[in-house]
Amino acid sequence: MQQLAVDLGERTYPIYIGPGLLAQPELYERHRGSGQILVVTNDCVAPLYLDRIVAALGEPETLVLPDGEAEKTLARTEQVLDRLLRAGFGRDGTLVALGGGVIGDLAGFAAAIYQRGIDFIQVPTTLLAQVDSSVGGKTGVNHPLGKNMIGAFHQPRAVIADTDVLATLPDRELSAGLAEIIKYGLIRDRGFLEWLETHMDGLRARKPALLTEAIARSCRNKAEVVAADEREGGVRALLNLGHTFGHAIEAGLGYGEWLHGEAVGAGMCMAADMSVRLGWLGEDDRARAVHLIERAGLPTRPPRGLTPEHMRALMARDKKVVAGQLRLVLLRALGEAVVTGDFSPDTLSRTLVGNAR
Ligand code: NAD
Ligand code: MG
Repeated sequence: MQQLAVDLGERTYPIYIGPGLLAQPELYERHRGSGQILVVTNDCVAPLYLDRIVAALGEPETLVLPDGEAEKTLARTEQVLDRLLRAGFGRDGTLVALGGGVIGDLAGFAAAIYQRGIDFIQVPTTLLAQVDSSVGGKTGVNHPLGKNMIGAFHQPRAVIADTDVLATLPDRELSAGLAEIIKYGLIRDRGFLEWLETHMDGLRARKPALLTEAIARSCRNKAEVVAADEREGGVRALLNLGHTFGHAIEAGLGYGEWLHGEAVGAGMCMAADMSVRLGWLGEDDRARAVHLIERAGLPTRPPRGLTPEHMRALMARDKKVVAGQLRLVLLRALGEAVVTGDFSPDTLSRTLVGNAR
C-alpha cells in the first residue's frame, strides 16, 4: 500500500492506494465519525463491490442509486438527504461514496450540505476517480442548464483507492483515466511523463504494481496543486490542460458520445499543437505527447464532423473566458504548463483547422 497526504492544515487527509483496501475495516475506523454510516453507490458498482465494504463496515446503511451522469442531479442528492434524515443521522454521521466520479461528486455534495456538513470518505472505483475526482474537495451535481453548476468545496476525511476494483473497469474507462494521468506529466512532472512512456503498455495490461505507482504519482501531483490553491484562484487552473478544447468536443458531439477523458486526450494534442505554433514547444516534443496519448488508447484529434467554426464558437463560451478573452492552458515544455491569453485568434484558428478531420 502507498499512502500520501493532501496537506490542508487541520483538514489534511490521507490517500491510501493499493490492492484489497476496500475490505480493510481499520482504514474506515481511523477516519469515520462516531455516529452512523451511509454507503452511497450505484446499480453498476453495487453488485460488484458493495458486499465487501458492508462486511468491512459492520452493518452500515446503504443506498443504491441508478448509474449514469444523467443521475448526477439535485433530485438524487435529495434522495440521499432523505435517507440520512429518516435514519436519524446526526452531525457525527459519515457518508461513504463507493463508485466513480458521479457518485463521489454527488455523495460528497450531500455530505457538504447535510446539517451544514458531515464527514465523508471517498472510495473511488474508476481510474479517473482514483487519480482526479476523489481528490481535491470539489463536489456537486449538474443542472439542466449546465454541468457541475451546483456544488460546494468539501474535503473528504480520507480517500481509499483499491486498485483491485479496476479489474472490472471497461477498457474505454481505463483509457479515459489514463488521459488525466498523462495530463499531470505534461503540466508539471516530466519525470513521470517519461515513466509513463516506459510503462504505458503495462498500464493498459493493468499490471497492479504499475497502476498503484501511476495512481500514487498522479495523486501526489494533484495534492500538491490543491494544497497550493484549494479554491482555484491560480495554479489549480493548470489542471485544465486540454479541457477547453475537450469541453468543446463534448458539447459539440452531445455529452456522453465521447468520454470526458477521450475529449481531453484530443484536447491535449490540440494544446500541444498550438504551443508549437507559438514557438513554445518543439515539434519533436509535440510528437512525443501525441504518441503517448495514442498509446493510451485515446483519440488525438476531434471527431469527424465537428468543424473548426463550431469548435471556436463553443470554446468562446468556456468558463475560462475572462473579460471577453479566452485563456488556455498551453505548454512551455514537456512538464511545464502555463495559463495564458497571450496568443492571436489566428493561431487558435490554425490549430482548429489543422486538427480538423
Ligand atoms: P462514472 O462515475 O460515471 O463511472 C463510469 C462508469 O463506470 C459508470 O457506469 C460506473 O458505474 C462504472 N464503474 C465504476 N466503477 C467501476 C468498476 N470498478 N468496474 C466496472 N464499472 C465501474 O464516471 P467517472 O469517469 O468515474 O467520473 C466522471 C464524473 O466525475 C463526472 O461527473 C465529472 O464531472 C466528475 N469529475 C469530478 C471532478 C472533481 O474534481 N470533483 C474531477 C473530474 C471529474
Ligand atoms: Mg478532467
